[in-house]
Amino acid sequence: MESAAPAIHVAIVGAGPSGFYAAEALLRSGLPVRVDMIERLPTPFGLVRSGVAPDHPKLKEAILVYERIARAPGFNFLGNVSVGRDVSVAELRSTHHAVVFACGAETDRQMDIPGEDLPGSYTATEFVGWFNGHPDYRDRTFDLSRESVAIIGQGNVAADVCRILAKPVTELRTTDIAEHALDALAESRVKEIHVIGRRGPAQAKFTTKELRELGEIADCATLVDPGELVLNAESETELAHRSNISGPGNLSLFRAFASRKAQLGRRTIWFRFHLSPAALIGDGHVEKIILTCNRLVGAPFAQVAQPTEEQIELSCGLVFRSIGYRGVPIPGLPFDESRGTVPHASGRVVDGAKALEGFYVTGWLKRGPTGIIGTNRADSVETVQSLLAELPKICDREKPGAEALRPLLERRGIQLLHYQNWAMIDSAEIDRGKPKGKPREKFTRVDEMLAVSPDNAP
Ligand code: NAP
Repeated sequence: MESAAPAIHVAIVGAGPSGFYAAEALLRSGLPVRVDMIERLPTPFGLVRSGVAPDHPKLKEAILVYERIARAPGFNFLGNVSVGRDVSVAELRSTHHAVVFACGAETDRQMDIPGEDLPGSYTATEFVGWFNGHPDYRDRTFDLSRESVAIIGQGNVAADVCRILAKPVTELRTTDIAEHALDALAESRVKEIHVIGRRGPAQAKFTTKELRELGEIADCATLVDPGELVLNAESETELAHRSNISGPGNLSLFRAFASRKAQLGRRTIWFRFHLSPAALIGDGHVEKIILTCNRLVGAPFAQVAQPTEEQIELSCGLVFRSIGYRGVPIPGLPFDESRGTVPHASGRVVDGAKALEGFYVTGWLKRGPTGIIGTNRADSVETVQSLLAELPKICDREKPGAEALRPLLERRGIQLLHYQNWAMIDSAEIDRGKPKGKPREKFTRVDEMLAVSPDNAP
């Protein structure tokens, strides 16, 4: 790095996977880049900390890579700072040459059906955030005294929700699941879980590994009605195509589940297909769900669920909506309401035909909520390439970066957390987990996190 060259100050908003991969690409550019990663929570790692299920510790190993990036010269973490509330987008642009938004998809898609907001109807985001100890969901309560549950959607988030509901709690005790969730799950009376897809078994979005796990849960029968596995010609074509990675494996698993039998006293997972939620019914609480029966129409890989006249009812006291996440608008940035993303051209934020100079986007906020953790690396590399190509334009003068941001935030009474502060929270969490045989016991309230790391010196 040329120490004499003026620094290029880049703010990255969001400390999840896409933010860290953007930081990595910037810091590897060989240019004198200073990255200030700004995060709303005191803790980094986004969905790897609060989205990945506690019984999937392997997936959390991505954190080892992020820790290495965070230790690189030129990297700076500014935690407990909310962009849009504590500092505006325009202020960030005045202190930094470029701002990369990597804020993910923080909310859920709506089903838009009557009764959606009845007590007993929850979003996957709330439930996943709750069992993972995310401070936003710390005080949510889920009525697990009900025996029958419907999960709407057949993607990997639905699989996570289903597994956490179905697994014996003894198998969760030594994970990093939040204590409040463990206590509630230990009292759970959930017996029957219906995982409902609007299309057919060939179109379920689970990856085969995640689906297989649902068939291997102790004391749980995983079942499908064989009549629901009849395929149309278009689905057969989809399954035979070499680009179809999960479909054939998923179908063999569904066929194996169809040959199993329910057993008295065990939890049961039922996969249901060709059903769309039409209404949630109940007097002050969900009691049943009305489902419209669908038929598939369209060409292979473009088949959609077309509703028929037929409807069925399913008794259930709990509904989890897991039909995909959605980004939330950032004050000062354009937003595509239909997709729930920030409009962009190869990562450059655009407003109609006009590029917003110095503003970039990456990750789920850019491409929508698809792909695995590693998918974000290529996505962030593309965004950083767009940024680096525009350096002559955006670096027209020197800028102060975090040097100007820190006093501004301190004047506003924000308790700024640096990476060293996170390291204190991290080691306190690990210590709290030790007596319980857990990898960590997370702090689930921001106040607790701030109390553990009072020293905010850089
Ligand atoms: P997803 O994979 O897109 O699945 C969403 C599900 O909801 C699909 O079955 C979809 O059906 C259904 N759906 C959408 N709109 C609906 C509606 N209006 N009514 C009924 N059903 C509807 O999304 P996700 O499960 O939230 O996962 C997001 C991403 O994170 C995925 O890429 C996933 O693989 C990844 N992830 C990975 C892991 C892991 O690797 N272990 C864990 C969690 C998440 P259609 O197919 O018909 O649209």
